[in-house]
Amino acid sequence: MDFDKEYRVEPSDEVSLSKRDTKTKGPFVDKAEAVAVTEQNVKTIQELQYRLFVEEKQSLLIVLQAPDAAGKDGLIRKVLGRMNPQGCRTYPFKVPSTIERAHDFLWRIHQCTPARGKVAIFNRSHYEDVLVVRVEQLVPKSVWRNRYEIINDFERNLAANGTRILKFYLHISPEEQLERFHKRLENPSKHWKLNPGDYEAREKWDDYRRAYEDAFNKCSTEDAPWYIIPSDHKWYRDVAVSSIVARAMIDMDPAFPPIQVDLVEIRRLYERAKEKQ
Ligand code: AMP
Ligand code: MG
Repeated sequence: MDFDKEYRVEPSDEVSLSKRDTKTKGPFVDKAEAVAVTEQNVKTIQELQYRLFVEEKQSLLIVLQAPDAAGKDGLIRKVLGRMNPQGCRTYPFKVPSTIERAHDFLWRIHQCTPARGKVAIFNRSHYEDVLVVRVEQLVPKSVWRNRYEIINDFERNLAANGTRILKFYLHISPEEQLERFHKRLENPSKHWKLNPGDYEAREKWDDYRRAYEDAFNKCSTEDAPWYIIPSDHKWYRDVAVSSIVARAMIDMDPAFPPIQVDLVEIRRLYERAKEKQ
């Protein structure tokens, strides 16, 4: 199945989230079949990340956005976080600090974009500045309205500098979210996640839906596409995202650099070291 084609938002699309499925199982007969594909994808990702790291020419930025309990943390823990930590970092973006708020909204973001050879995973991102900021009216409309274009320019700049950008929205139904809130409530090891703010955001589901749709419609570009991933089934979310990331890395085709040293000379040094031993 072509996950990229299925879930990529084309620049010409008019996304309506309510028309997008959250529960699909795609072509899989059961979870085990999907998990096997995910494991294969993770192997591909690990191998290509190693080459990316050594090549030091390109970088990869993965942006994750989602309603509460949609599974950003699980996706990072179980799938994306299995990249080599020498070359991969996750950046969670929380409520901006006083110093962050004293700068433009991209200031804190730009410091975390991946250097050549590196992968960065954004757990929330600059999109919060047209999502929560818009819904909660943290700045006037005259300010957030201009941010879509600013974001596109910013992402185009990153892409021109060799950064591949993949943006994922984990799409869950409100019913599934409530189910997960309940599971959190019943599981003491998940109590640290409980947050009354989650219920307030849930009350504003439609406002968030509209804000998300605008972000997808205005900011899904050739350089930095959005993908809307059905995420009611965690295993489906994992296989879809890992397939798209693996495919993008295959397309990036990072290569080991050409050998710089004289192999004959190195072999000679080795033989001499062996004789001396
Ligand atoms: P969590 O990811 O669940 O730990 O929560 C982080 C919180 O920070 C969420 O409620 C976000 O909406 C909030 N947040 C992230 N970025 C911003 C921002 N730019 N402005 C306001 N709130 C933000
Ligand atoms: Mg949360």
